[in-house]
Amino acid sequence: MQGLLLRVCDEIMIPVVVKNSKVPGIMSIIIDVYAITLWPFIFFRDDGNDITLQHESIHIKQQTELLVLFFYILYVWDWIVGMIKYRDGAVSYRMIRFEQEAYENEHDPAYLDNRQPYAWRKYRVWSDK
Ligand SMILES: [Zn+2]
Repeated sequence: MQGLLLRVCDEIMIPVVVKNSKVPGIMSIIIDVYAITLWPFIFFRDDGNDITLQHESIHIKQQTELLVLFFYILYVWDWIVGMIKYRDGAVSYRMIRFEQEAYENEHDPAYLDNRQPYAWRKYRVWSDK
């Protein structure tokens, strides 16, 4: 099922990368956003770069396996749990499980080819490290 889904996605060229988009600016009311993934689109404020494209492509994979909606529910849930634990918006953002996976692997171009499904589950928001 997973293989079939991804093959269908490849055929219709997901993600759709939009450069020089106004979407990141519109989404920057609360925090400054350079690029944003809203499945199946990745919006860049400018021409983009390979590392951010890799980061956002990891979010595309996460959103695909969580049918998009559950990604956003868990994303907000992790942020709330992080705010309770750390009481710091920037730290809470970085401790969101999806962001931990994306930041840890955004420099590895081979990561998406070797990634295990639901790899974000190995990360913890509530960590005492
Ligand atoms: Zn991210």
